[in-house]
Amino acid sequence: MGILDKFNDVGKGVSEKTKNISEGNNLKRKILYEEERIVEIFTDIGKKYYKNQNEDPAALKVLCDDIDTRRRRIKKMRFELNQIRGYKICPKCDAEVNERFQFCGRCGARLPDMEDEDFMSLEPNDYYTESSNNFFNADSNKNY
Ligand SMILES: [Zn+2]
Repeated sequence: MGILDKFNDVGKGVSEKTKNISEGNNLKRKILYEEERIVEIFTDIGKKYYKNQNEDPAALKVLCDDIDTRRRRIKKMRFELNQIRGYKICPKCDAEVNERFQFCGRCGARLPDMEDEDFMSLEPNDYYTESSNNFFNADSNKNY
C-alpha cells in the first residue's frame, strides 16, 4: 500500500465519521421531536377527558395509539443511533454491548435486532411524517 492509498483511507474514515455524526444528530433531533409530541398528546388527552368526562373513552384511543406509535419510533431511532455508535443496549440491564453480540455479556439477555417485531411493524419511512403531525395539530386547533 502506497502513501497515497493510506492517505485516501484516512480521508474515507474521516468522511464516514462525519456522516455518522450528522446522521446521529439527525436521529437525536427526531427523537427529541417525538418526545415533545408525546408530551403534547398526553396534555391533549387530559384536556379532552376533562372537557368530556362522560364521553366514550374510546374517543381517546386514537391519541393513545399515536403515543404508542411514536414510542416505537423512538425505540427504533434509539436502536439506529446505537448502531451508528457501534453498540446495542441490553433491554434488561441497560448494559452497552458491542453490536456484534447477540446476547448481553452481563446478564445474558437476548439483544434486540432490526428484525424484531416492534421494528418490523413500522414502515421504513413511517417515522417523522408531516401528515400524522398535521392530523394531531389540526385536531387540537379545532377544539380550543
Ligand atoms: Zn443485560
